[in-house]
Amino acid sequence: MCIIGKTPRWSVIILRDIFEMRAHLSLLTSRQCLFAVLFVVAAAIFAGCNAPNVITDNANVNDTTPADLPNTVDSVHLPYGNPSNAGANDKDNYLIVGEGSVISYNDGRGTANWIAWRTTRNDLGNSIPRPDFRHDPRLPAVFEPVEYYDYSGSDYDRGHLVPSADRFANKKLNRETFYLTNIMPQTPALNQKPWEKLESEIRSLVRARNGFDAYQIAGGYGSLPTKKGRLTAPTNCWKIVVLLPRGAKAAEINERTRIIAVDMPNIKGIEDRPWRSFSTTVRAIEEKTGYDLFSALPRELQDRLETRMEIKSP
Ligand code: MN
Repeated sequence: MCIIGKTPRWSVIILRDIFEMRAHLSLLTSRQCLFAVLFVVAAAIFAGCNAPNVITDNANVNDTTPADLPNTVDSVHLPYGNPSNAGANDKDNYLIVGEGSVISYNDGRGTANWIAWRTTRNDLGNSIPRPDFRHDPRLPAVFEPVEYYDYSGSDYDRGHLVPSADRFANKKLNRETFYLTNIMPQTPALNQKPWEKLESEIRSLVRARNGFDAYQIAGGYGSLPTKKGRLTAPTNCWKIVVLLPRGAKAAEINERTRIIAVDMPNIKGIEDRPWRSFSTTVRAIEEKTGYDLFSALPRELQDRLETRMEIKSP
């Protein structure tokens, strides 16, 4: 279906240029100008009709995702590739390009498969009042909703993937972290202890003098039924954090970049386990999940980064 709102931005720019040439340089006759305008409008409508039907509430995202790079999403939150090729056509691998994160949502499970988000010092701040958990309004109406009470009495916490505290600086983005698409059933032991300890440590690294920007991706794999049945809890929760010097471009990632990867079991009794005892490699997470993480990077660099444990760069 063609929607005017989908008209690519390049068409507006070309039209503006045509009118500027006409006004200032008189390069074009009226008839040439008319044909040029008609051509651009037709091309824009054609491109609009073929644009991928991807949810976005970020103005500079997805104007034109190149068709030959289905693997990439134009968002600061997911610079290293779309690990499951999430898109518009699979309800269980459904791409949501949000302002504060990028999500692969799984309608069957009632949770995300993975969420990617960047945390910089500007995202942090003093604690703000907790908003209510709510249904994600960006999901298509045909999806089966998940509500707050689907977690009630399930023995699982409402575990944030993007931590609320990673978005204290911006009320709107903080509210987004309370959408149920950002929530996963986690045992209280996992959610409140090792998982939370890692989140806090990442924020300390982001906040520090000479600190970092953190490019994070987290998700769950494996299936455990929950009491009410709407939700599937993961057997494991994983997270990968790329730490780049503050202000560096995401593309500056290299073989010496510090990367933290963890794979934590979603079980009781791990309150006292330090998060670092769950350290693993990106490659091990790829093997468990079937995803291709860092897929936008050259294969050689992926092999280097994905097969080693965390190293602390200077
Ligand atoms: Mn990979």
